[in-house]
Amino acid sequence: MKETHFTGPDEFEVKVLKVWNEDGKKYVEISPNLFYPDGKGGQLGDRGFVGNAKVLYVWNERIEVDKEISRGTFLAKVDVERRKEVARQHTAQHILSAAAEKLFDVETVGFHMGEDYTTVDFDSDVNLEKIVELSNDVILDDLTVEEMTVSPSEVEKYKLRKVSPKALEAGNIRIIKIGEFDLNACGGFHVSKTGEIGSVRIVHSERVKGGFTRIWFVAGKRALIDCKNRDEVLKRSSKLFDASWKDLEERVKKSLSELKEKNVKVKKLSQELAKFIAGEIKKNDIVEVDEMVASFVTRLRQDVAYVLKISPNSASVCLPIEAKEEVISWAKGNGFKGGGKGPIYRFNFSDFSKFKEAFLSFSQRK
Ligand SMILES: [Zn+2]
Repeated sequence: MKETHFTGPDEFEVKVLKVWNEDGKKYVEISPNLFYPDGKGGQLGDRGFVGNAKVLYVWNERIEVDKEISRGTFLAKVDVERRKEVARQHTAQHILSAAAEKLFDVETVGFHMGEDYTTVDFDSDVNLEKIVELSNDVILDDLTVEEMTVSPSEVEKYKLRKVSPKALEAGNIRIIKIGEFDLNACGGFHVSKTGEIGSVRIVHSERVKGGFTRIWFVAGKRALIDCKNRDEVLKRSSKLFDASWKDLEERVKKSLSELKEKNVKVKKLSQELAKFIAGEIKKNDIVEVDEMVASFVTRLRQDVAYVLKISPNSASVCLPIEAKEEVISWAKGNGFKGGGKGPIYRFNFSDFSKFKEAFLSFSQRK
């Protein structure tokens, strides 16, 4: 296929040849289609306009658009800013992959660009900090990024990081050269100087199927947006803790340890309160308690029928005089959801007064 995406104009006249709807989506076939297709080489596709219809997704043979468009001649426009941002992500991927190989002899086995993050799969573990550090040095060095096209027979002359047999079969190979740092075959968009990337950040990593390490990264404006979002969370959290961002971690640690201590105290007090309630409880009593207290009371007292109301719509119930099947069928018959290990049950209901009435008539039968 002729690579018109890299040399072609950003605005061009197109003929809309076919217009159709499919599963509630609108598609057009245009000629020429100079929009870069989604998924090609793991990259995001172009966006822009065909006439006044927004481009939502691009294939070689069709384009999804946001509104009806008639057949005829229109002006098509590529969203150049998006292309630039895609180029930043893509070139950053080359640099990260090359850095991983240089530092840890790790091979890149997968790459996928999403609308928010780009992922790269490495064939083994890597030290992410070192990779990011070297990659940002390469970005700051503002190396020249060149594109070269070579024939399959010439390819061997170049020490390419990776070239697929499929690409060799397809004909001439497009090589992306980043200063003296990296040479790699690729069919996507790239910046012309590494400085245009701005910076790269790895935001997440995890082990994935096959023993690979997957990283999620952002570069260019995405890296700035990522920093801004994190900064805002930090600012809001600092405000909540009335601390500067530098003191925030210590403040959170302190609060968590205080909370832990308090929880121990609450548990102890709940046990004592439960002992008291369990001792006082009489048949058919209805008591409002906290969930933790309820769990202690039901362990201590199981010889009389009672209800512990935990929330407006739920209660723990002791029914020692009934067989479990009878209790379950009574609850089901009244529309109460729940169950339990007799004699202790837990039920949810929409109206407590109805539940109370049903419980009293059920437990007083015997
Ligand atoms: Zn590339």
